[in-house]
Amino acid sequence: MPQLPKPLIVSAIAIVALLLGWLAFAAWSDFAERKDETLATYSEMMAMAERGEIASVTFGADLAHAEAKDGTRYRAVMPVTDDVLKELRERKVALSFDDGPGGLVPQTMTVFEKLAPVIIVALMIGALVMCSGQFLGTSRATRIRPQDSHTVFADVAGVDEAKEELRETVEFLRDPRRFAMAGARVPKGLLLVGPPGTGKTMLAKAAAGEAGVPFFAASGSDFVEMFVGLGAARVRNLFRTARAAAPCILFIDEIDALAGKRGEANSHSEREQTLNQLLVELDGVVEAGDVILIGATNRAEMLDPAVLRPGRFDRHIHVGLPDVAGREAILGVHVRGLALSTDVCVRTVARGTPGFSGAELSNLTNEAALSAARNGRTTVTMGDFEAAKDRVLLGSERRSLALTDHERRLTAFHEAGHALVSIRCPEADPIHKATIIPRGRALGMVVRLPEGDRVSVSRAKLRADIAVAMAGRAAEELIFGADAVTNGAEADFRFATDLARRMVTAWGMSDAIGFVSHGGKDADGPRSERTAWRIDEEVRRITDEGMEHARAVLRTDRAALDAIAETLLERETLSGAELVALAEVRTATTVAA
Ligand code: ADP
Ligand code: ZN
Repeated sequence: MPQLPKPLIVSAIAIVALLLGWLAFAAWSDFAERKDETLATYSEMMAMAERGEIASVTFGADLAHAEAKDGTRYRAVMPVTDDVLKELRERKVALSFDDGPGGLVPQTMTVFEKLAPVIIVALMIGALVMCSGQFLGTSRATRIRPQDSHTVFADVAGVDEAKEELRETVEFLRDPRRFAMAGARVPKGLLLVGPPGTGKTMLAKAAAGEAGVPFFAASGSDFVEMFVGLGAARVRNLFRTARAAAPCILFIDEIDALAGKRGEANSHSEREQTLNQLLVELDGVVEAGDVILIGATNRAEMLDPAVLRPGRFDRHIHVGLPDVAGREAILGVHVRGLALSTDVCVRTVARGTPGFSGAELSNLTNEAALSAARNGRTTVTMGDFEAAKDRVLLGSERRSLALTDHERRLTAFHEAGHALVSIRCPEADPIHKATIIPRGRALGMVVRLPEGDRVSVSRAKLRADIAVAMAGRAAEELIFGADAVTNGAEADFRFATDLARRMVTAWGMSDAIGFVSHGGKDADGPRSERTAWRIDEEVRRITDEGMEHARAVLRTDRAALDAIAETLLERETLSGAELVALAEVRTATTVAA
């Protein structure tokens, strides 16, 4: 870096200018003060006083200032002794003692006043350096050097899949040339997607720690600026800094603040410029530098599609809320430094904290230790963990944490319903996993694996998919009764209705409507009222059929439904294979039949 950064030069110039200005002012005021005072000796002063020419004398700390009756001012060094004062009093000279600058004031005060201009200048310099940093686009990224980073993968628990995905990145950073020689293209832009406090920052930092490279961290919100071009300048600066330290990891938290969708009402050219600069830098990083860019967001769907294009943030790693095993592992990391009483069972704590993020579990451990300390104990008991849980729950406003046992049961049966019907319908997509860990606004979910990118979809498969969608509500109804069902099936109904409508209006799969296209996908092309009514009837019939099918499956296979739901309540996440095994539990009547 042969060239000095601009802000430094600018502030240096400003400092010199300020200093010169202050010196000039000091010299001038000194001159102005001395101009109208004549220097006199002690004897001259006393002689004038004896002649009755002196009207008043003011004693300062060093000097006495006198005013003659003709208005002339004098300045002299005079001892303040009883004799002198007596002499002056007899000559009817008005005496006073000055309290002003250089007067009879405490010494510390004088020192402060002498230093005041220096202090003011120092403050101005400080402010200037900070402002120039801001105005010239210096990034506010924190840098952690490899020798100072003590975070490793072992510190991040319960996110094994994410760690696995990052391992290749670590390998690359350890020896970029090996990868280059092999001609391998390593993804340079990784996106960690997941709710707050799940360890995204920790993961990025640990990757740097494992690879032994510098770690730079910034937040997307640091780049949101009022003035056009500033955010872009910051982005440019940040990447320049990172490139100079390559190989390294550059972490940008809350990347949605920086790379949100363009062309919305609130977008203005500053945002566009910043985003464009980010895109330019991203492409540069991919082509040239050994810089790995890791972004983190809670809402990947908010990002501008341009950011996600191949060669940019093209590897997405999901970092979700931990399941019960994950929570146990995370608690294990955080209780390492604590002295636990023998009654503490970390597994029980993990079971009692569904929906807690890693950060909340860390918080919980800390609160438990505080609770022990408050009670004068050196070991942490199970009671401390109970008390801590209440505190953490109270302190957080997250809805997912407010899940009652009833809500958890209901969610478990809802998801078990989806899972079981999908297993019983061979045409439906195979099931990958089911979970009752809340994600986003969903309390739970079932993940199915579509078999490749299907271009053609059969009527049988569509019917099966609709039945699977209906199965969540069907299970709620079967177990808890028609009055206890919840609004949790909203997305399911939207999905099923959408499919059914397209079967009727676009795909010629309704006998009543026939092989007519009614506006296709958007389903609002011109049509008669009678046709519109008949379309609605057909959609209704298809979804009802799906619901009937789901109900029938769940009724006959009640034992399997119970088995899946109870196991979900216990383990929170089940793989496809585990679900299929549980679905083998047969109801007695089914076997007999
Ligand atoms: P995010 O970046 O996802 O918001 P952080 O990485 O900043 O979350 O995590 C905040 C804190 O929560 C961490 O410092 C750590 O103490 C704790 N934490 C979060 N996730 C984990 C985890 N998976 N394992 C251990 N501790 C975690
Ligand atoms: Zn559902």
